[in-house]
Amino acid sequence: MESGENNSGLDDVHLWPMRYDLHSHSKASDGHYTPAELVALAKKKGVEVLALTDHDTSAGVAEAVATGKSIGMHVVAGIELSCLWHRNQIHIVGLSIDPASPELRDLEKSQAEKRDIRAREIGLRLEKHGFKDAYEKTKAMAAPGASITRGNYSRYLVSVGAGATEESCFSRYLGEGKPAYVEPNWPDMDTIVKTILAAGGIPVLAHPCRYGLKNKWILRLVKDFRSCGGEAIEVTGAVQGSSSEKFILTEIANKHELLCSCGSDFHHEKPSLDLGTDLSIPEAGKPVWKSPKFRLEC
Ligand code: AMP
Ligand code: MN
Ligand code: MN
Ligand code: MN
Repeated sequence: MESGENNSGLDDVHLWPMRYDLHSHSKASDGHYTPAELVALAKKKGVEVLALTDHDTSAGVAEAVATGKSIGMHVVAGIELSCLWHRNQIHIVGLSIDPASPELRDLEKSQAEKRDIRAREIGLRLEKHGFKDAYEKTKAMAAPGASITRGNYSRYLVSVGAGATEESCFSRYLGEGKPAYVEPNWPDMDTIVKTILAAGGIPVLAHPCRYGLKNKWILRLVKDFRSCGGEAIEVTGAVQGSSSEKFILTEIANKHELLCSCGSDFHHEKPSLDLGTDLSIPEAGKPVWKSPKFRLEC
């Protein structure tokens, strides 16, 4: 697919209302599909612009772009970085990042080391509960060198019959205060936002209503994120708290002069969470693809 006169493809993007999904996962972290399979599935489901945003790694982006080029699908290079804010584990998506950025590469390397140390510790704790070789078996289900999250562990636990659903495995083993919970030591929000900016990307506060924060704290989070240099917040996702949520988030975005993003946070098929779900942004919001930094890789 050719995308307009310039390399960015912005002409096409601005001319037609496309179906965007700007938050998704592959086997490079805790998604169930390879980047190639994910891009093909997104196309089948009617997505026109897909951002691959794996946890703390951009390793799957090259494969996603190669597939996008061959089957005619717009792909955005992305990542979802983990940080700590007032001890809360907050996720910042970076859109249109340069995966070759030295700052981003350094950060990905240190996040990978932290994730591996934590994943081994989670594995040891699960061994004590009778899950032999939990770390090795969990790793074997993802791509070689993948960024292992608690999502990978929940999938492994379901596969060995430890729970009927991933959610139930969080309730029993992986959630905060449960036997296999290991506190992460992610960097602070400012470090993460600045690294995305250094990589030429657009920092996007992911799923603001999914951190279990009270409204007052969500507003503080958005304000702090903006002060760090954040540029957009996700206002629509496949998992909606309530039908008014996206309108409230759009108002908050406008108040803080932030752009609006949308993404399913797809890992694998679930009734409430699918690729191709309607993720339209309220008219009052300014979509993140209007940013001059927004770039399609193909
Ligand atoms: P981590 O970054 O290692 O703490 O893992 C976070 C990932 O675990 C998220 O991206 C989700 O994929 C998954 N996750 C977190 N909480 C739950 C839950 N309650 N049920 C199912 N998956 C979850
Ligand atoms: Mn995940
Ligand atoms: Mn997330
Ligand atoms: Mn995600």
